[in-house]
Amino acid sequence: MPPASPVDPGPSTPDESDWTWVLTRPCPDCGFDPDDFRADGVPAILRDAAGRFVAMLARTDAATRPATGVWSPLEYACHVGDVCDVMRGRLELIVAGEGQLVRFADWDQDNAATAYWRAEPAQVRDRIATAFESAAQAYAVPTGDQWSWPAERSNGSPFTAATLATYFVHDIHHHLWDVSA
Ligand SMILES: [Zn+2]
Repeated sequence: MPPASPVDPGPSTPDESDWTWVLTRPCPDCGFDPDDFRADGVPAILRDAAGRFVAMLARTDAATRPATGVWSPLEYACHVGDVCDVMRGRLELIVAGEGQLVRFADWDQDNAATAYWRAEPAQVRDRIATAFESAAQAYAVPTGDQWSWPAERSNGSPFTAATLATYFVHDIHHHLWDVSA
C-alpha cells in the first residue's frame, strides 16, 4: 500500500453549482438520464457503484490528483462515502416524517473534503463499502406513495423521496464518470 501524500495538496476547486437541474434533464457529462431512472432500482445501483469504487482504490494512481484542484480517485471515494451517509440521513428523515414536510440542511461538501487527501486507502475501502450498503438498505425501504413524501433543503429546493433518490444516484453516477471507473 503506497503511503499517503505527505504534502497537503490544498483545497479542490469549490463546487458551488446547484445540481437540482439533473432531476429534469440528462447530464451532458456523465450521461445520466432522469427519465430512465426508477427509484426501486437504487439499491442495485448503489451496490454496483460500491464495487466500482472499491476496485478503483486498488489503482496505483488512486491517491494522485490528475490536475491542480481536481480530486484524486481516493478523494472522490472519500466524498462518495460522505454522500452516501448524507443522502441516507435525508431519506431516513423523510421516512420518519410519514408524509409531513421535513427540512434538511444544505451540506458544505467542500468543508467536509479538506482532510480527504490524507485518508488511508484500506480504511476508505471499508468505509465506502459500509456507507454504500447502509444507503442501499435505507433506499430499499420506501414503497408506493412514500416516494412522493416531501422535503425541503435549507436553501429552499424542494425534494421528494423519489427526487432525492434521483439526485443521489446522479451524484454517484457522475463521480464514477469523474474517476473513469
Ligand atoms: Zn452527471
